[in-house]
Amino acid sequence: MTEPLVQIDAKPPSGNWRDPKVEFRRGVYCYSAQPKHVTYLGMANPRSWQPTDSDWKLPSNWKQIILDGLKDRLKKYRSFRLFMDICVRCGACADKCHFYLGSGDPKNMPVMRAELLRSVYVRYFTARGRLFGAGRELTEEIIKEWFYYFYQCTECRRCSVYCPYGIDTAEITMIGRELLNLIGCNINWVIEPVANCFRVGNHLGIQPHAFKDSMEFAADELEEITSIRVELPINRKGAEVLFVMPSADYFATPHYYTLLGYMSLFHEIGLDFTYSAFASEGGNFGLFTSHEMTKRLNAKIYEEASRLGVKWILGGECGHMWRVLHQYMDTMNGPADFLEEPVSPITGTRFENARSTRMVHICEFTADLLYHGKLKLAPQRNDNLAVTFHDSCNPARAMGLLEEPRSILRHACNRFYEMPENTIREQTFCCGSGAGLGPDENLEMRLRGGFPRANAVKYVNEKHGVNTLACICAIDKATLPTLMDYWVPGVQVAGVHELLGNALVMTGEKERKTNLRGEPLPAEVTHA
Ligand code: SF4
Ligand code: SF4
Repeated sequence: MTEPLVQIDAKPPSGNWRDPKVEFRRGVYCYSAQPKHVTYLGMANPRSWQPTDSDWKLPSNWKQIILDGLKDRLKKYRSFRLFMDICVRCGACADKCHFYLGSGDPKNMPVMRAELLRSVYVRYFTARGRLFGAGRELTEEIIKEWFYYFYQCTECRRCSVYCPYGIDTAEITMIGRELLNLIGCNINWVIEPVANCFRVGNHLGIQPHAFKDSMEFAADELEEITSIRVELPINRKGAEVLFVMPSADYFATPHYYTLLGYMSLFHEIGLDFTYSAFASEGGNFGLFTSHEMTKRLNAKIYEEASRLGVKWILGGECGHMWRVLHQYMDTMNGPADFLEEPVSPITGTRFENARSTRMVHICEFTADLLYHGKLKLAPQRNDNLAVTFHDSCNPARAMGLLEEPRSILRHACNRFYEMPENTIREQTFCCGSGAGLGPDENLEMRLRGGFPRANAVKYVNEKHGVNTLACICAIDKATLPTLMDYWVPGVQVAGVHELLGNALVMTGEKERKTNLRGEPLPAEVTHA
């Protein structure tokens, strides 16, 4: 299948860009949300439909709903209004989107994606639109076009790094999706996890007893590898720290090995902490739905911190959880001043950057431990791995978490290699499947969107023999293995704390024969 996808047709189409007609071809769109999930969340217009249907069964007053919704949001979000008005069409963002690079479709240029909504704004909310007919008339075809392209944007914000005016097309996509939600045009891969999160607390709807079983199973496995039984505090009132992770860490692979890494670390440093069966999800698919939904889902983490009486919160390897925390938490649910400013109980470091959210990223926490020499590592246990680091979009661009994961990897691995400069750190390329676009039915578009990332991995694979792609996002861990299998076979995906856990020498451990995956250690390394 590589051959057809590498043929990217970047020839501009012959027709006028104003023509909204799109073709919902198999492999490049996501299925609609099932009505039971839409109903459960109290969202608009639950019904059975698919994007390939000619009749989308929109409410009879759909046009008014969209225009009223647009008006409200122009009033409420000054940044959105600004983004609608100030684009000079300079084109600096045009070739920065992975979906454009991988598909060649001009409407996947960020400037064009924004224009799809801006043209309607111009028509109905500016004098030149009202008096002279500038912009585009809102039609059902435009709704279909919005659905197609706003669900071909992973809200990664790479384009915004290059815009001289700081226009954030991800924010425009978010508003576009909010508007679509008002008339019931949403996708199942977003809405079902949101509904599950509401009902049970996590994306897959894993019940508290299953959460506990899963954690016990992980502790059993870790004991087999290390001979050490780690503690499993769940819902423990009065712990110093609440630890929140994405639910994939305890039900999916390769995420699961990251969980073993956290468990090893917390045991080794004697952290006074608790997991929670209620806040059993750090991820927040509300971010891909609406501001309101983001707020509702984020609230549970803080409610649980309050109920358990912890001092502060530690968060695991997740992407959009951190975007919510760093960019929206304060105005949505915060400030969390009922908690204390986080201080590492091991090093005494005060995490002033978390003064307001009271939540520290696990990479900040661990990098600080390493900086203070608090962990004994045997990096040679990772010598069979040549590692590169994929900066996950949200920790990199939304919170500037660039050095901490690299510091951990340099301590834990002897063979660490960077991908080319314009593909990492703030300029990192998206996995191509974020923001809810990771379902199987969307596979062709995922592989196309992930092509620039894969291309950079291929470069270090060929130059340095890189065979491991480390990352700190649950969506990356779920979707990059497929991307690697397709574009760069032989490269596996790992969490940063998995690699740390491999190298961590635990007090009283038996001689290690395997890494956290149960694979034999490199031949010459059986003991630290
Ligand atoms: S936010 Fe990311 S996916 Fe969306 S237009 Fe910008 S670069 Fe493309
Ligand atoms: S870089 Fe900014 S101003 Fe230039 S076309 Fe893109 S969004 Fe518009």
